[in-house]
Amino acid sequence: MALLLGCIADDFTGATDLAALLSRSGLPVSLRIGVPPTKRDESDASVIEVIALKCRTSPVQSAVEQARQALDWLKDAGATRFFWKYCSTFDSTSEGNIGPIAEMLMAQTGAEQTIYCPAFPENGRNIFMGHLFVGEQLLAESPMKDHPLTPMRDSSLVRLLSPQVRGKVGLASRVVVSEGPAALKARLERFKEDDVQHVIVDAICDDDLRTIAAATVDMPLLTGGSAIAGQLPRLYVEQGLATAPDTHKLLPHVGGGQIVLSGSCSAMTRRQVADYTAHSAGLKLDPINLSKQGSAAACLWLRQQPADTGKIIYATAEPADVHQAQERLGREEAGQVVEEALSEIAREAFQRGIRRFVVAGGETSGAITQALGITHLTIGPEIAPGVPWTFTEVDGEMIALALKSGNFGSETFFTDAFARLEEA
Ligand code: ADP
Repeated sequence: MALLLGCIADDFTGATDLAALLSRSGLPVSLRIGVPPTKRDESDASVIEVIALKCRTSPVQSAVEQARQALDWLKDAGATRFFWKYCSTFDSTSEGNIGPIAEMLMAQTGAEQTIYCPAFPENGRNIFMGHLFVGEQLLAESPMKDHPLTPMRDSSLVRLLSPQVRGKVGLASRVVVSEGPAALKARLERFKEDDVQHVIVDAICDDDLRTIAAATVDMPLLTGGSAIAGQLPRLYVEQGLATAPDTHKLLPHVGGGQIVLSGSCSAMTRRQVADYTAHSAGLKLDPINLSKQGSAAACLWLRQQPADTGKIIYATAEPADVHQAQERLGREEAGQVVEEALSEIAREAFQRGIRRFVVAGGETSGAITQALGITHLTIGPEIAPGVPWTFTEVDGEMIALALKSGNFGSETFFTDAFARLEEA
């Protein structure tokens, strides 16, 4: 099938979130883990491709190079419209990867201008006057200020993006968005005349997203969160580019036991871990111990648990404990030892017959999918907004994976996830 949209996501849970929202339309969406080594199969039925990279915190040059390879693959597969997906909390380091990748993609796709819209109103991420809010808190006053890898200490998207790009940055505020697609289009045109290439666009509700998508659907490159992308398939159907799909999907059967693996220290994950450990077997990992002794003790603990009962292994910790581990080991090393340990534990779990995995944390999900050698995922039912069950084969065995980004899902997410799989 001809490709309608080629998407590049900067981490794995971001990619599954994006694929979930695009899939709500019923249009077939394919999710690749990393850039596929071979060309796209011409008989592939999907009309949207999402490539998951793990470049959110990579050095800029390496991140840009990964995105360039993803773009080349998507172009080769026939895509002419592209979407650059990053987190709804604009997670990036001060050197930033969001802006440099956007500028490379603009240059390579001939886009003179693009928009930046990470808003996800359904999950409480809104942009007003260029400032990003998490619920009712400004980004820099939300728990994101303590993120282990990308602490967000400013809430102004204009200020965050400006040092990351060479071109001019502008803001299309809610005032213009509320006037509808024609007004927004006219504002973008005026920005273009003033040489403003990068436009942050406010959005505080799904109606705003509909306006923004209607005004920008024909741009070669759009950037933002999954929610703005989720508006695009409907417009493609309206434009006659795709036919209204059959939304009934048959899900594969997945047997075997279950496990939750969490390397996320985000506020919501901390609540989810507390909720789940109240009634399931749990093992807490300590990065300092892991750096000395590795994951052998955790693998032993896992071998002692029955396969099919609820269990969780987690490094999830309070900000003060994360800080302490980072002081001792360094920020990168602390993250690395946890990701390596959880990857080894995931492989052990698979060998022990576990087939249902819930993973919390974007970077953590990247590490675990790579460790399991996963390259292609089919998107299944959503557990919570932006978190679907996904299915894939590992060594010829079907497994189910839910990859949850830090602050997504409600307190009972882990329990809800396994229950949702039973219903499916
Ligand atoms: P989120 O989706 O919440 O941002 P990520 O997995 O993307 O979660 O990022 C969390 C990072 O914190 C990972 O690199 C993980 O290895 C690291 N980490 C997890 N637990 C700890 C801990 N106790 N101390 C220090 N770093 C940790």
